[in-house]
Amino acid sequence: MDLTYTAEEEAFRTRLRDWLAASLPTLPPAPSPDDWPGRRAYDTAWQRMLYDAGYGEVHWDAAPTRRLIFLEETERAGAPYVGANFVGLLHAGPTIAAEGTAEQRQRWLPPILRGDEIWCQGFSEPDAGSDLASLRTKAVRDGDSYIVTGSKIWTSHAEVADWCELLVRTGPGTPKHRGISWLAMPMDAPGITVRPLRTLAGSAEFAEVFLDEVRVPVANRIGEENDGWRVTMVTLSFERGTAFVGEVVACRRTLGELAAAARGNSRWDDPALRRRLGRLHAEFGALWRLIQWNVSESQATGGVPGVGGSVFKLRYSHARQELYEAAADVLGPDSLDLSRAWTPERLSSLSYTIAAGTSQIQQNIIAERILGLPKGP
Ligand SMILES: Cc1cc2nc3c(=O)[nH]c(=O)nc-3n(C[C@H](O)[C@H](O)[C@H](O)COP(=O)(O)OP(=O)(O)OC[C@H]3O[C@@H](n4cnc5c(N)ncnc54)[C@H](O)[C@@H]3O)c2cc1C
Repeated sequence: MDLTYTAEEEAFRTRLRDWLAASLPTLPPAPSPDDWPGRRAYDTAWQRMLYDAGYGEVHWDAAPTRRLIFLEETERAGAPYVGANFVGLLHAGPTIAAEGTAEQRQRWLPPILRGDEIWCQGFSEPDAGSDLASLRTKAVRDGDSYIVTGSKIWTSHAEVADWCELLVRTGPGTPKHRGISWLAMPMDAPGITVRPLRTLAGSAEFAEVFLDEVRVPVANRIGEENDGWRVTMVTLSFERGTAFVGEVVACRRTLGELAAAARGNSRWDDPALRRRLGRLHAEFGALWRLIQWNVSESQATGGVPGVGGSVFKLRYSHARQELYEAAADVLGPDSLDLSRAWTPERLSSLSYTIAAGTSQIQQNIIAERILGLPKGP
């Protein structure tokens, strides 16, 4: 597979680089990390600027290499990343594009691309995380609505979201993978209570969501009733296969900053640390190649990434964690001071191997679905 960029793609890079140089100075200052309404406003304003300049659809581009160039250039220029638009742009939107009707695509995709509406993900429940198909939030048909009752947990950005990609049980009494449906739930519907949860790093980025007889139109169901597990696999393949690619570019930059910090203190004299940073450099380089391969492959197979995304998710989340462990080594006790650069990221890094499916679950998927090994007990 040829992974070099064409002259046309390089011309796209130059245009984008020029646009970034002219546009970034016009962005308002970034809000503080825990100001969620402020972050929502900032992230959606950035998406709107991209949209107005013709780059709004870059994550869904028919030419996926443009997305890679976009990520390289926006990172190089220090532009914001997707932020609060993460779920909408990177997995709810792509799922609706792949599985929704023409009407549904028309209703939900343009506002995501314009930065008008943001989404959260209501998959996990207190007793249904890794074993997602055990979810119990139920949806009962009442005319042209579902009445939804139950609770969700770890719902990132729930406080500021307009829509939730919600998994519900519509087929009680059927085998657990067969009775699930995927709904687009408006977050301002009566009966929804959002209770923020604070992370180790002090940020209230996710929440518990309680649903008490929430009315959701049947027309908001993506896919057939009780076929939600299949639709969910599409969502998860986007989430694990392509949603985190921007973070790899960011990790490469952080690694450069870390090496510079180490050169500035005595840690650089330690050959073991230099080897560690060198190994991480090689690892992120390999991950970037894997992304290029995944993105090209998914293009060849109709745009939905395959289970190979689990290989990426597994390696990426460990490498990112190792990066922040190395940062702690370079910074010493300062790495526990929340006001210092990297500390909140270092504390958050503990969650990378859990969010979007734990490493153990990715290993099970790789073993069973890629290597063809027998199912675990
Ligand atoms: C930062 C962050 C953001 C998140 N955002 C969202 C969100 O926006 N929306 C959402 O729906 N969810 C979100 N989640 C939830 C996340 O998807 C779940 O935490 C994850 O799927 C694990 O589920 P659990 O927490 O219930 O752990 P459990 O399923 O209870 O697992 C506990 C441990 O047992 C292991 N285990 C369980 N089953 C097996 C098995 N069969 N084989 C081997 N090991 C196993 C797991 O790997 C894990 O180590 C987020 C989580 C984090 C940390």
